[in-house]
Amino acid sequence: MSDVILETRNLTKKYGNFCALDNVSISLKKDHIYGFIGENGAGKSTFMKVVSGLLFPTAGDYSLLGAADPKEISRKRKLVGTMIEAPALYPKFTVYRNVEMQRMIVGNPDASYTDKVLELVGLSDVKEKKAKDLSMGMKQRLGIAIAMVGNPQFLILDEPINGLDPKNIIALRNMLKKINEESECTIFISSHILSELYLLATDFIFIHKGRIIETNTHEELEEKCSQYILIKDSDIPKTVIILEKNYPDTQYKVIADDTLKVYGKPEIKAGLSRYLMEAGIVITELSEKEQSLEEYFMTLIGGETNA
Ligand code: ADP
Repeated sequence: MSDVILETRNLTKKYGNFCALDNVSISLKKDHIYGFIGENGAGKSTFMKVVSGLLFPTAGDYSLLGAADPKEISRKRKLVGTMIEAPALYPKFTVYRNVEMQRMIVGNPDASYTDKVLELVGLSDVKEKKAKDLSMGMKQRLGIAIAMVGNPQFLILDEPINGLDPKNIIALRNMLKKINEESECTIFISSHILSELYLLATDFIFIHKGRIIETNTHEELEEKCSQYILIKDSDIPKTVIILEKNYPDTQYKVIADDTLKVYGKPEIKAGLSRYLMEAGIVITELSEKEQSLEEYFMTLIGGETNA
């Protein structure tokens, strides 16, 4: 099978006149963990619902696990585990029975699998507890066990970290890493908080107002977040023109009348300084600094107007 787990081509979803997904074309590769990052309302759930077959796209198409034809895609769905919005649990049934029922629904004939996934998500000790009596973190884990019981090659999780406390976030992250490594399962996980997925994902896809605004590997993101150049000088509008002319791919943000930040390209510092001096601009500061993940995310979102 090809290395591509999911490929979308100009996937578009409109609710009436409102465009919730706008020509989304992405490709997810086997064994990676993709962080799908966007503010509330960016279109993450809509995208996940479309590729999970819960919503029809308005336009565009996609292939899933190598299948492009709708009939073939629906056959492949049993290899995809999903948890979109709240986990679908039977509150009065035990943890074990919730997973066991799903094992039967997906037709996994291996009866030992229920215990195996409970072990994987760390719920073996509470398997006789009723689902309604679980903590929020445990409910999320049970939702993931249910998504895993078909032994999926692809796991789609919509905001599973939402509302968890820091201890549970760490537990969930470790569990997903284990699932990814031991079960060779590609994971696609959404969040509106970049730092929540930073220590988990191998790749990041940023969505804003229904459009993909950037994709980064973990290394690329690390590089972009680690450094920026802070420039204070006498003519910021002219600095912007010089920057765009000489370094057109550069992301930057004007943060005050006399201050500009240039992200992720520390190597341009010397060249830029030379261009500015040649243009007669008086530089009062030109230094390398660090920016946080959330600051980078905010820049990306705001970047639509200044990039
Ligand atoms: P996210 O998961 O990133 O928070 P959603 O995909 O849930 O975003 O929503 C994207 C946009 O589509 C939002 O503006 C939301 O209000 C709108 N939306 C979602 N579902 C519907 C619906 N059934 N009808 C109309 N608008 C919707």
